[in-house]
Amino acid sequence: MEPAVVTRLFVGGVAVVVFIVGGLRCCAAPCYMAWRERRAAERRRQEVESTGRVLLAGDGEAELEQCMICCEENIAPEEELRFLPCSHGFHKQCIDKWRLQFSLACPLCRSQ
Ligand SMILES: [Zn+2]
Ligand SMILES: [Zn+2]
Repeated sequence: MEPAVVTRLFVGGVAVVVFIVGGLRCCAAPCYMAWRERRAAERRRQEVESTGRVLLAGDGEAELEQCMICCEENIAPEEELRFLPCSHGFHKQCIDKWRLQFSLACPLCRSQ
């Protein structure tokens, strides 16, 4: 092969590699970020799901006069409650939403 042809091939090859790598970086970064976010959200959801005890309000063990998140005082016996390790209880759906969106800490005593 003549040197000129080799150089052209080489330059062409480098251009293709740069193009592919550049393209990959542009597409892969948002995917990677989204993947990391999804994984973090999944872990958080699992932690929210696994913390504390879930009881029905009608259960003898569950004692809750008021859910301090929605300020509801008349808690129906069939409603699901979640009691955090600090022994504070809330509607399950209220505290799960709170912990998913705001903070994993108990809204009353701030313990994790
Ligand atoms: Zn509530
Ligand atoms: Zn608490």
